[in-house]
Amino acid sequence: CMFNISDYGKRNGLLTLSVLAVMSGCVVGFTLRSLNLSTQAKIYFSFPGELLMRMLKMLILPLITSSLMSGLSAMDTKASGRLGLLTITYYLWTTFIAVIVGIILVLIIHPGTGTEKEGHKASGGPVMTSADALLDLIRNMIPSNLIEATFQQYKTELVPNFKNSAKSSQANFVYIMPDYENPKMSHPVFLELTPPPEIHYKIVPGKSNGMNVLGIVIFSATMGLLLGRMGSRGTPLVNVCLCVNECVMKIINAAMWYFPFGIVFLVAGKILDMHDPAVLAEKLGMYFMTVLAGLFVHGVILLPMFFFLFTGKNPFSYIRGLLQALVIALATSSSSATLPITMKCLLENCHVDRKIARFVLPVGATINMDGTALYEAVAAIFIAQVNEYELDFGQLVTISITATAASIGAAGIPQAGLVTMVIVLTSVGLPPDDISLIVAIDWILDRFRTMINVLGDALAAGIMAHLCRKDFQKDIPSSSKSERQK
Ligand code: ASP
Repeated sequence: CMFNISDYGKRNGLLTLSVLAVMSGCVVGFTLRSLNLSTQAKIYFSFPGELLMRMLKMLILPLITSSLMSGLSAMDTKASGRLGLLTITYYLWTTFIAVIVGIILVLIIHPGTGTEKEGHKASGGPVMTSADALLDLIRNMIPSNLIEATFQQYKTELVPNFKNSAKSSQANFVYIMPDYENPKMSHPVFLELTPPPEIHYKIVPGKSNGMNVLGIVIFSATMGLLLGRMGSRGTPLVNVCLCVNECVMKIINAAMWYFPFGIVFLVAGKILDMHDPAVLAEKLGMYFMTVLAGLFVHGVILLPMFFFLFTGKNPFSYIRGLLQALVIALATSSSSATLPITMKCLLENCHVDRKIARFVLPVGATINMDGTALYEAVAAIFIAQVNEYELDFGQLVTISITATAASIGAAGIPQAGLVTMVIVLTSVGLPPDDISLIVAIDWILDRFRTMINVLGDALAAGIMAHLCRKDFQKDIPSSSKSERQK
């Protein structure tokens, strides 16, 4: 009992420290902004925050693979099939509800009509379409190289087409190759001539840095299912996964003590780096409030209500156990980076069945982003309103579907939603370049929507644990007997 009390005290102490850290980070960041630090000084200053992100990111790969492989191997086919189906259905359904909340609010508040007039930027040349984004999603599901998937994902992009550019611009610029032997000429040199060259772009399926979490989730889940069917032959690998999982949790427990310190610098560093925080034009301010109101309605009213309806338990005492994860989501803007902490909170504070948490959370961190979906719908309709572009009912339906798809395609990393919004905009003929209208405040909204993304995953795990509890009381393969004893 003594141990429990001190454990409880430690947890609350850490939580309080983390909240204080976010606030101090804001104060320190805004204070230091007036000093106009050089870029190099900012990099040095942000270093403790960078370390925090690196620690969290380091744990994602071992956590996801070991969780899914050990979690799914411990379920029989019927139970895992039912859990998978229920989880995916619930995720899609709540994401869609989030989009509807966003659409209703943005249509009522109408943040895009104000007194100012923005110039409409025409966009020429090729644009990314929903089809490109869909292909990327499927490509990412089937990584051609698993090792590469740990640091790169597929991403179609616009690249300069120098062949065509050169043709039309007729050598308007000269590129002088670097000469590494000669220190004076060791950098490439562009000699710019007037008029500047007209650069043509083309769309190519490329790759971008960042882990392909979706591919790794799909591969590990498949392995987990197969391991479960192999019986005792699969036990050695399952045991390895259980050990890795336990070690990751231990690392997190130790790293937690560093978090409050890291958070101060992470938040302050971001504030130091942001552009023109004060220029919140009237429309942009209303847009900001609309997204926040939507996130509030979804995260504080609807999701807890679903939790209560499905489980009959008090959602707010469950959410209390998740606060540490929510603070980390706020500080890091990344649901993938928060995953280790969400897992810890669910297992230690909310006492969700391990096997269920090990499946529902990694999948949720990858595909379930209610906050992102809501924001995508609000932002797209806001952009239409600013452009005085009337959307008919059919287009609203298109936005609701593409916003859901765009949130599924978005990776759990900072501002991924801003990128996948191209899909939503192009689906209804809005100029993708207009993302620039909202980019200035996106990093703040990103923090709040990430909190709702994490909350959605964690509440889903609680609901699934309740709905599937009977499946897990029976038929636990021998490989996980040791777990049952925990
Ligand atoms: N940052 C979000 C997340 O990690 C994704 C986004 O909406 O940009 O969940």
